[in-house]
Amino acid sequence: MDIKQVKGNTFCIDTGMTYIPFYKINHEEIIMLDSGWKRGERRGIDQLLEENHFKVVAIICSHAHIDHIGNNSYLKKKYNCIIVMPAYEALICSSAVNLKLYYSTQTLAEVTEHFGHMVCETDIMIMDNEDKIYVCGSEFKILHTPGHSPAHICITTQDDVAYLGDSLISYEVMKGAKMPYAYILSEDLKSKSKLYDLKCSKYVVAHKGMYDDVTELITDNINFYKNRAKRVSEVINDAMTMEDIFKAVIKNFNIHVNSRYRYAVIERMLWSYVEYLNETGVIELNMDHGFLKYSKGSTDMIKP
Ligand SMILES: [Zn+2]
Repeated sequence: MDIKQVKGNTFCIDTGMTYIPFYKINHEEIIMLDSGWKRGERRGIDQLLEENHFKVVAIICSHAHIDHIGNNSYLKKKYNCIIVMPAYEALICSSAVNLKLYYSTQTLAEVTEHFGHMVCETDIMIMDNEDKIYVCGSEFKILHTPGHSPAHICITTQDDVAYLGDSLISYEVMKGAKMPYAYILSEDLKSKSKLYDLKCSKYVVAHKGMYDDVTELITDNINFYKNRAKRVSEVINDAMTMEDIFKAVIKNFNIHVNSRYRYAVIERMLWSYVEYLNETGVIELNMDHGFLKYSKGSTDMIKP
């Protein structure tokens, strides 16, 4: 784990898997953009912050996923820092009961056990109509990019560095991603297009890249997600239940599902592709003797 300078006072922690940007407001005090994953990253981040004598005064979160807010409550307790997050994301991780919205196929006891550490108190909620915020005297521009998660945001520091969170994935991640996650794929694609208008001098993608220009990466991301949707559509032949589609997809994509938790994760990922295909008319949903079944729709092409 090490620190890379992005530009001016904007740096990022390279955890190996992720870039976690931070903005230095003075020699000692920093504002983190996301806090990382608990299981694989907490120890390293903790050590790095201590070695550099940094004091975390705030964490601004792009979205409430486990690998982005996993150390929020830990760092808040340790440094007494404030947490800033889009309002809807903040509400999701405000309690285990609310987190169950994300993890609806698991029992509340399981959600509490596996994801309880994500629960944190947000001090400043960012509303949908806000395009900038002031945190500890520094201005951050906000671009709302819903889709990957309900209220995902991109955050631009005073150095004109945009942190894109999970609104884009790098080429390295694309290579290994069988079915990258989106909460609502159609919204996610719209948000990806919005990024064409974002003109900054540097861009940081959480998993994991640093760029001077993301124009090509945006186009390649959009095509990558659409191509995955097309591949899902290709396994849907006859009228199929969601479970039939699941079975066909994991076989076709060579995805290993060896636990019911993994099943829940893959099923959630697949849902957004199936919904997208349904929304675009590539497949349609009908009742068949009391079962919900998907079959080929009237449109057979995903628009480029
Ligand atoms: Zn995410």
